[in-house]
Amino acid sequence: MLTNYHTHCFRCQHAEGSVEDYVMEAIMHQFDKLGMSDHVPYPHYDYGLRMPMSEIWDYIYEVREAQEKYKDRIQVLLGFESEYLCTQRAYYEELLTEYGVEYLILGQHFFDYGGQFRSAFAISDTAYCVTYAKSVREGLGTGYYSLLAHPDIVGVNRLPWDRNMEEMTDIIVESAVRYDIPLEINANGIRRGTVTDSLGEHYMYPHYKFWEKASEAGAKVVVSADCHSPHLLDNDEVHQAKAIAKSWGLRLIDDIDIRNPAKDNASK
Ligand SMILES: [Zn+2]
Ligand SMILES: [Zn+2]
Repeated sequence: MLTNYHTHCFRCQHAEGSVEDYVMEAIMHQFDKLGMSDHVPYPHYDYGLRMPMSEIWDYIYEVREAQEKYKDRIQVLLGFESEYLCTQRAYYEELLTEYGVEYLILGQHFFDYGGQFRSAFAISDTAYCVTYAKSVREGLGTGYYSLLAHPDIVGVNRLPWDRNMEEMTDIIVESAVRYDIPLEINANGIRRGTVTDSLGEHYMYPHYKFWEKASEAGAKVVVSADCHSPHLLDNDEVHQAKAIAKSWGLRLIDDIDIRNPAKDNASK
């Protein structure tokens, strides 16, 4: 089965293509399912690199329209890539209920560090990576998320692989296994290329040290395109990411279970 649950569109202001463009690309490549997961907007604050809150319904209607129009050829899912901020829990629940969002993936681009806001892309000390991991663990524990996007994203900071990095990895891998949520090998990491440091030449992410532990723990793994342009949905880097995941002995799955606590409660 061919699926991709990590797909952006032009609304996030750093991607190109409409929902329909991605759906047509997916159909051309004979995908069975395409999950749209553009960056979630927040009602009271604009964190940047995402659609304004005023466009949320336009996005939702656009995905709904594509679902209906192409339903005989592909299953399209309505999702968001979302951070986990404990102050926004009510909003995440609202997304999964009132807004009718089918699934969320956790992309922890920023997190709280003792009341301070930290970007996962601007970490200067590996101690922050442990805090990052704890925020991911808390997010996974909520049951709102169906997939953990780029769990090793902090690799972009090119920090030394030390005990904090080991602890970060342990926390994330253990919680993914405990909550049975797949970890994502992200093709954008392949697109960013390799670096050479004391470990030798390796990708910043997917970082092989992280995935060694994921492999040992038998965590479920999916490969996502994280495409910000339709032609990147099923291109060389995606195929390469799949080949790497296989070569690392990861437990690759081709489809995920959708978590939606709102729907689960409604059916009880
Ligand atoms: Zn993006
Ligand atoms: Zn992301």
